[in-house]
Amino acid sequence: MKTVRQQMMALLAGSEQSAAELASALQVKEKEVCEHLAHISRSLSAAGRKLGMRPSTCRKCGYVFADRRRFTRPSRCPRCKSTFLEEPLFRISDD
Ligand SMILES: [Zn+2]
Repeated sequence: MKTVRQQMMALLAGSEQSAAELASALQVKEKEVCEHLAHISRSLSAAGRKLGMRPSTCRKCGYVFADRRRFTRPSRCPRCKSTFLEEPLFRISDD
């Protein structure tokens, strides 16, 4: 029986995943996914790998949340105040 974190790493190694997708695949809360992502990111960097994040973007004005390092999703666009945001996507990369 694999742990949630092991299952999450297997999903992230295969393709890009959003926190919401991981939450529904693993039957856990999105908040819990974000906590696991933080741990996964740390253990990967200790092993010379990394958890890549494609940043969240605003679907209304195209603003990119490029500086964001947290794993939770932003709630609103700082430029146009829209809450219609694309979720960040995560994937394990080897570079
Ligand atoms: Zn915007």
